[in-house]
Amino acid sequence: MTTHEVVNQVPPMVGHDTADDPALCDGVTREGAGWALPGLHELGRLAGGEEAAEHGRLANEHPPVLRTHDRYGHRVDEVEFHPSWHELMRTAVGHGLHAAPWADDRTGAHVARAAGFYLWRPDAGHGCPISMTYAAVPALRHSPDLAARYEPLLTTREYDFGLRPPHAKRGLLAGMSMTEKQGGSDVRANTTTARPEPDGSYRLVGHKWFTSAPMCDLFLTLAQAPGGLTCFLVPRVLPDGTRNPMRLMRLKDKLGNRSNASAEIEYEHAVAWRVGDEGRGVRTIIDMVNLTRLDCVIGAAAGMRHGVTTAVHHATHRRAFGGYLADQPLMRNVLADLAVESEAATVLMLRLAGATDRSARGDEGETAFKRLALAVGKYWVCKRWPGHAAEALECLGGNGYVEESGMPRLFRESPLNSIWEGSGNVAALDVLRALTREPQVLAAYEAEVAAAAGADARLDAAVRRVRDELVDHTDLELRARRVVERLALVLQGALLVRHGHPAVADAFCASRLDGDHGQAYGTLPGRLDLAAIIDRATPKIG
Ligand SMILES: Cc1cc2nc3c(=O)[nH]c(=O)nc-3n(C[C@H](O)[C@H](O)[C@H](O)COP(=O)(O)OP(=O)(O)OC[C@H]3O[C@@H](n4cnc5c(N)ncnc54)[C@H](O)[C@@H]3O)c2cc1C
Repeated sequence: MTTHEVVNQVPPMVGHDTADDPALCDGVTREGAGWALPGLHELGRLAGGEEAAEHGRLANEHPPVLRTHDRYGHRVDEVEFHPSWHELMRTAVGHGLHAAPWADDRTGAHVARAAGFYLWRPDAGHGCPISMTYAAVPALRHSPDLAARYEPLLTTREYDFGLRPPHAKRGLLAGMSMTEKQGGSDVRANTTTARPEPDGSYRLVGHKWFTSAPMCDLFLTLAQAPGGLTCFLVPRVLPDGTRNPMRLMRLKDKLGNRSNASAEIEYEHAVAWRVGDEGRGVRTIIDMVNLTRLDCVIGAAAGMRHGVTTAVHHATHRRAFGGYLADQPLMRNVLADLAVESEAATVLMLRLAGATDRSARGDEGETAFKRLALAVGKYWVCKRWPGHAAEALECLGGNGYVEESGMPRLFRESPLNSIWEGSGNVAALDVLRALTREPQVLAAYEAEVAAAAGADARLDAAVRRVRDELVDHTDLELRARRVVERLALVLQGALLVRHGHPAVADAFCASRLDGDHGQAYGTLPGRLDLAAIIDRATPKIG
């Protein structure tokens, strides 16, 4: 018996191109990677397709399983993944998201990769090893002999899963082990020891409390050598084919990021090779951390884009009180406000990717800009994501609270980018450190903002307020979040005024800089061009 006809349910949001994103495409071209657009659209169509969405769902509903021993009791320390995880990884590696810029001299290679990483988000969890592999390369280059041995295998486009000696594999992945039980932010408190051996290698004894993607082939690891905290390369399998005694103790039961394995590990005299000098561990691994921080910003911007496009799609097809939700004035305010936040994140992440690209080519001005702007962006864009995800979810009503919508997964993922690679306070304090120790970084930031001077009076006034805030050093640490927030908003405002759609820039300045905005999303003031803003966040299905 048919009890009812199903009506007013929204069609699935599949069959679109996630690169159909004007802020992304304009920014990719502006930052020097226009040549990458055809490939990005190809990846965007894959990402917006039904198959990718299904792999994302399955990889999360069947999280990784740790196998510590084989049936005979031998330690194996393996992690088993659902086939969908491997499919997601294969696509990411095949498109070079894990390392392509290190083997590509073209201007904008890091921007192209950043855009690909932003687009390919059917699942956030597998982005972790992809990001860490990308980030490991510049740190590894502190030891040219190790880089010569491993970089060619890190940059191939072959996903070759399984624990085998690195030289016997067609492609490698790299992870990062810093956090210990007694401290993650304060890595100088690490207690893992590194004892030098006559052959130049070291033996590590100790533990790590968080090591994500433990099935990677290599890890950059911090440990206390005789000369102080030092960075090491630790392979899972030694050149002779034996397992390095790096034991996987447990996998974490996490809020989100469930497709990805995050392990507790112990080193039982694990073989390691030094990367960089003894005592320079933080200075060495920071080259890796800075790139994973960039990926935190990219991931948060991507999450916001996914959230707002899903919300707009739903509101465009769902009717209530005699009309489509997307036509109701208050819903239009919410959708436009979410879209403004998303575009502000996208324009900033692309500017940071452009700075990364130019800095990698020796541009000192861009290196200075990146030093400050990356810490500012890591703090602010990641901090904005959870509220954005919650509001986007609510646009779907009760359906948004149900797993099948994908929104609970997005919501659970959203606090993570602010925690790892330097939690909110640590990122804010890093901004102060840069400001006080490296005066050139503020000059580079001010030059960037000055390029928009005179274009919008609300922006000009906000720039003056930031300057006043920085002149007074009283209680600066106490005020760090407020200072960084203002730096972020002014930078986003300047970028949108110069490069963004006029309606988006106007809404951003009116709400975020001029103060005409409430605490919740959906509190944009009147007289803004909401239609133009929402149109830019509307996915074109089919
Ligand atoms: C899912 C997941 C995966 C992870 N994967 C990895 C990995 O692969 N490799 C790895 O090395 N680590 C990994 N981490 C660990 C992560 O980087 C740390 O959790 C993070 O750096 C914070 O360290 P902590 O947990 O020790 O917190 P703590 O350092 O104890 O910090 C707790 C809180 O105090 C704040 N705080 C710290 N210092 C100050 C200060 N001076 N002033 C004010 N506030 C302060 C922090 O901002 C934070 O909010 C992972 C974490 C998660 C959640």
